[in-house]
Amino acid sequence: MQTDTRTPAIGIDIGGTKIAGALVDGEGRITHSERVATPADDTTAIIDATAQLITTLTEAADGEVAGVGIACAAFVDARAGHVWFAPNLPWRDLDLAAEVGSRVGRDVVVENDANAAAWGEYRFGAGSDCDDMLLVTVGTGVGGGCINDDRLIRGAFGIGGEIGHVVLDPSGPRCGCGNSGCLEVFASGTALVRNARELVTSPSPLGEALRERCGGDPDVLTGQDITELARAGDGAAVELLDELGTRLGQGIASICAVLDPGRIAIGGGVADAGDLLIGPTRTAFARHLIGRGHRPSPELVHATLGNDAGIVGAATLAREGRA
Ligand SMILES: [Zn+2]
Repeated sequence: MQTDTRTPAIGIDIGGTKIAGALVDGEGRITHSERVATPADDTTAIIDATAQLITTLTEAADGEVAGVGIACAAFVDARAGHVWFAPNLPWRDLDLAAEVGSRVGRDVVVENDANAAAWGEYRFGAGSDCDDMLLVTVGTGVGGGCINDDRLIRGAFGIGGEIGHVVLDPSGPRCGCGNSGCLEVFASGTALVRNARELVTSPSPLGEALRERCGGDPDVLTGQDITELARAGDGAAVELLDELGTRLGQGIASICAVLDPGRIAIGGGVADAGDLLIGPTRTAFARHLIGRGHRPSPELVHATLGNDAGIVGAATLAREGRA
């Protein structure tokens, strides 16, 4: 393990549309970044592009790096560097660390993207002053990662922390995972837009501003539209975020009955709505927390690293030899 905090580590975030990479110093600061398009539907091409990005970043660091960490949206056994399955990439049973490592001639750490983001927030963001933290990311889906007693909870097979798939209501809508009524189908950005579109197509006068915003075509409505309308004071948009935050707060309270984190950080694109989402989340959370009134309550705060959390976390896990 490198001790000089100025020597950068490489963090890579492989997504369905782009592969982003950066040099990250020992204080969690990004000093150089690069990105390439993800070659669609070609396992080998994605591995090759990732290796090439690592080579480019290594050259940018004059050949001296303190580790290489890769974050990806997948079920990952981080100890083995093995990807079980990636929903948005053509990866099944892939020894990603070995494949990339052999191409770049270095050890490579591979981690689930939400776990990596949780580690980034824990070390340098919203959880940097506590030992037990839960990160909840609210974007297209609901993801998260949990740190307990200074350790990332991965579970026996690396699949721990998939908090979006805790079932809130089995009679609820079908989730992308195949189950029904997961937290994700009620509390994700996708759910927010789905609910707004239903309102637009309903005869209710409540949906008037939303209807105007999308010109009557619900299919063009985005989460950002809803957030902007809520900020401007539209009652329906405020209600939609309130409803989402309420579900989220209930779900997080259930998860806290198991994990008991000292801090909960909310990140992801929908969290850009700020207190319009996090206010109702806090209220519902306080109403459902086990032992409420007779126990300390964890603080529920905004995540602070934004989209960089995964890259910073992956680089830092590699630097610290945390695989
Ligand atoms: Zn699910």
